[in-house]
Amino acid sequence: MTDANEKLDTNPLLDWTDFPNFACIEPAHVGPAVDVTLDQAGAALTAIESARPTQWDDLMVPLERISDQFERSWGVASHLHAVRNTAPLREAYQQAQPKIVQFLHRLGQSRGLFDGYVGLQASEEYADYDGARRRVLDSAVRDARLAGVELDGAERERFLAIGKELAELGTRFQNNVLDATKAFSLTLTDPDEIDGLPSTARQLAAEAAVAAGKEGATAQVGPWVITLDAPSFIPFMQHAKRRDLREKLYRAYITRASDTELDNQPIIRRTLELAREQARMLGYDTYADMSLTRRMATDVAAVEKLLIQLRDAARPAAMKDLDDLRELAKEAGAAEADDLMNWDVAFWAERLREKKFSLNDEQLRPYFPLPGVLDGLFTLAERLFDITVTIADGQAPVWHEDVRFFRVANGAGENIAAFYIDPYSRPAEKRGGAWRNSLYGRSKACAAPGEPIRLPVAYICCNQTPPSSDKPSLMTFNEVSTLFHEFGHALQHMLTTVDIGLAAGINNIEWDAVELASQFMENWCYDRPTLRGLARHWETGESLPDEMIDSLIAARTFREGSTTLRQVNFSLIDMELYHRYDPAGDESPLDVQRRIGAETLVMPPLPEDRFLCSFSHIFAGGYSAGYYSYKWSAVLSADAFGAFEEAGLQDEDAVRKLGRHFRDTVLALGGSRAPMEVFKDFRGREPQPDALLRHSGLA
Ligand SMILES: [Zn+2]
Repeated sequence: MTDANEKLDTNPLLDWTDFPNFACIEPAHVGPAVDVTLDQAGAALTAIESARPTQWDDLMVPLERISDQFERSWGVASHLHAVRNTAPLREAYQQAQPKIVQFLHRLGQSRGLFDGYVGLQASEEYADYDGARRRVLDSAVRDARLAGVELDGAERERFLAIGKELAELGTRFQNNVLDATKAFSLTLTDPDEIDGLPSTARQLAAEAAVAAGKEGATAQVGPWVITLDAPSFIPFMQHAKRRDLREKLYRAYITRASDTELDNQPIIRRTLELAREQARMLGYDTYADMSLTRRMATDVAAVEKLLIQLRDAARPAAMKDLDDLRELAKEAGAAEADDLMNWDVAFWAERLREKKFSLNDEQLRPYFPLPGVLDGLFTLAERLFDITVTIADGQAPVWHEDVRFFRVANGAGENIAAFYIDPYSRPAEKRGGAWRNSLYGRSKACAAPGEPIRLPVAYICCNQTPPSSDKPSLMTFNEVSTLFHEFGHALQHMLTTVDIGLAAGINNIEWDAVELASQFMENWCYDRPTLRGLARHWETGESLPDEMIDSLIAARTFREGSTTLRQVNFSLIDMELYHRYDPAGDESPLDVQRRIGAETLVMPPLPEDRFLCSFSHIFAGGYSAGYYSYKWSAVLSADAFGAFEEAGLQDEDAVRKLGRHFRDTVLALGGSRAPMEVFKDFRGREPQPDALLRHSGLA
């Protein structure tokens, strides 16, 4: 063994005998670990290419192992980049990323592999392949074509360069958003300035002040620091009575990362230009046309048809929503009643919610302490899917003391999966939003020696309100449904029965079908018995009172017209930018944002609204020309939940039976079967939008 290898032996990013030891991973480990992984993967790839294999076991099995090894070290580094971001880690990540992109392109563009796939499709053994193998192979051929495998010479070089630049642009976009969010804060010292703010938000604001160096800040006397981080920003917009401060905060929010050295506008323009160039090199007119070849939706027309259908159903309801707010403001004698602005909407919407449902986030919070919510969630999963979730803190190292670890067993008591939950917002080092990711996927080819299978492990990351000095994390209802959502993704990752890693769990599922399991789980937050089980007062242990449950269920369709329009607006802007926007034309991306916003929303965005500059989903999150997927999936998930409604949610036997059917189809089959077929396996027919419109109160 050489010296270099000895040094590498101690690199925790290369130690895969067990769960990664996050505490020991330093930014300096990233570069060497990535180099070693890429060397090994490169050598293995070369070996396959020169062997010209003609059988599945000689081609697809080693290929799966290559992807897997490569995902390991880089996967953990990427995970830490998202949850424990520091300047040195960011630098190490950015240095390694081009090599990764280069290798991914080599893998994706390998003519040897492509010829191998095509050879397998024409081989004698193909006739004996099951659906999973055939689909994996078909996807591999399609993806290789989309990765430019059929390009030669200079064209090929150019194609590679575009991919590399797009990846760098995405990282820069995301970092700019993170930095711009961190750069702004509002320090308030006069109690009048936080008038209306609930106690949780005051506490958080005082803690933010302490963190910013204002020693001795308290919830009662301040000072208070308000930031653009969601748990700080949202309550302030909803509750602060000082309209001028809401305006200030709102304006800062919609212009994040849109000027000075953090300006994302040039990144947006360049991204769109390159995306179009890339699509044209492969013979597609637009990036959207190209990317839809990998989706459940057949084409842009099908997507826009659904979006317009939703827009038309939602607009009258959204108009009424706005009228209701104006009326309420007038009743309250508010000066802004005749001149309601964007920074007034969340505030008056919250007042209207209180009036209509006599219920606000703050009254609900005490009933949703994180431990109780987890308990309710796991009980539901047990009931529906016949699994057991066990707390296993301490059985695997974590990257932050607040991270929890769990194991999952099936009905027979066998371990089938594990997962981590990183629940709280940490704006200084963790990216915003909520997501699920994979540490390992289920795989036979990647099983440890002597083991029949490698079991899946998921990460669930949220950005919910942290516990304070004297209380557990008391969640808003929105944070609860977000957790259910991410857990739904994790379930699909963990309950897969597919043994081919390339199609297990979420792998190889079309993007627009991938939210089916997650949004399906959200529906249960509105199911009475489920709610009763998970909502208990953190101090008294009392269940959420029935009238609050009624109110919560009635509140589900509250302002749903406006919410739907917001999502449709994002989706239409995304599709327009990646389908019709012309980099050489007169209209800028921000012009597109404004034009579509004016056509879609009932309250047009401000002229200076540059939210596009923080729209990470479509410029850094992989949802380019794919934001519509949320609504597309919502049709699927609402319709799937509709099956339970039809069977009767009170009928325990029927619910359990359908739950297991959902587990054995949607959650089990992963990417081994076309999403339309999987849906039909479960529902017995093609999806229909009726249930979604009904649940949204827009039918
Ligand atoms: Zn999701």
